[in-house]
Amino acid sequence: MKEVCASYVILSPRNYVKSACVVFDETIARVEVERGVEEGTILTHGLASAHTHLGLYPLRTSLAGLRLDEWVRRYVWPWERLLRKEPELSYYTAILALSRMLVGGVTAVADMHFNEDRVARAFTELGVRGDLSIAIMSRGVYDSFEEGLQENMALVRRFGNSTLLRVRLGATTPRLLTLGEYREVIYTAKKLGVGVHTHIAEVPEDITYLRSTYGMSLAEFIEYVGLAEVNSLVAHGVWLDRDSIARLSSTKATVVHCPFSNTLLRDGVAPLRELLTSGVRVALGSDVSPSYSILDEVKVSLSMHLGRGDIGLEEVFSSITVSGYKALGFGEGTVTPGEPADLVLWKVSEPVQDPYLALLTAEEVREVYVAGRRVIEEGAITGVSDNVLREARRELLNHLRGSPAGTFVDRGG
Ligand SMILES: [Zn+2]
Repeated sequence: MKEVCASYVILSPRNYVKSACVVFDETIARVEVERGVEEGTILTHGLASAHTHLGLYPLRTSLAGLRLDEWVRRYVWPWERLLRKEPELSYYTAILALSRMLVGGVTAVADMHFNEDRVARAFTELGVRGDLSIAIMSRGVYDSFEEGLQENMALVRRFGNSTLLRVRLGATTPRLLTLGEYREVIYTAKKLGVGVHTHIAEVPEDITYLRSTYGMSLAEFIEYVGLAEVNSLVAHGVWLDRDSIARLSSTKATVVHCPFSNTLLRDGVAPLRELLTSGVRVALGSDVSPSYSILDEVKVSLSMHLGRGDIGLEEVFSSITVSGYKALGFGEGTVTPGEPADLVLWKVSEPVQDPYLALLTAEEVREVYVAGRRVIEEGAITGVSDNVLREARRELLNHLRGSPAGTFVDRGG
């Protein structure tokens, strides 16, 4: 048995204890209170990002000032075409992006992109839990719908039963698939017994497209394709109206709120209060953000909803632990006996009155455990060496040199 002690142990979004130790192996055995422990430390459950594109990490500082479609045309598609040609680049970007997320306390990530077999390697080496899907589309980066679907199904066969990894099907967005193709992805997911990961209602154009192309409202689309019938990660949901929220409530759907990218791309403000009040599960996602820090998403979310139903810190903390973990199927997201030992020890500055708030100004992550395995020790990643990360940066730059993609990517790694 191992143990980690802290001056505050956050057990759940509503409950914490002082001066306690958590005893665990792969799962949590018990919490022992009133132990003499070092001041200025907080222990939490591992955090989850339920919508992320690790492969777009080099584009993380390109979002500001553009609208979604223009950003995708100008930056995303050229970069993604290069990734398709050079699949190993997906490993380099994933290992760098995921390392950054891990040192920010993230232990579970839902990633949707391409070359996910390479991305899976980064998850396994770092010891982080991954929920993988391919961005299936019939235009844009793939030559055909079948190509992406087959690649995703192969991923289910290869990684579907591993401990750290889950696989679901990625129906990228209604605007990049036909109605029939979108429905087929959901039908196939049901047949395979896996979930779906999709973008819905990110920008107003997503709604007008459904109306002008199919004569459907968003709620009618959700009903027609069967989205509410599968375990789904519905990214963004900025323009969900009352009818579509009603379709998603009391289902297996999780809406993944991505406040930082929504702000920079000026997508709008997701109806978070309405979603929570309607009983829709809401998780948080880093998507493509300048920092790939889930705590930054918390801060942006708290700010953007001021005066719009005022979201509480407890609710946002719940979205990055309980809701994120439940959505990905990795556990309940609480520090409770019997739950997986996914734990993060944070160093914070004294004095601490409210440990939840203190977490937002944490100085560093000291230790991280996933399924009881130590993946960060004294602030350093244990799964890969600094040399591997240096090589990943170097390889990324080498591949970019002389390529059109190299003119816009962040060369800092
Ligand atoms: Zn996205």
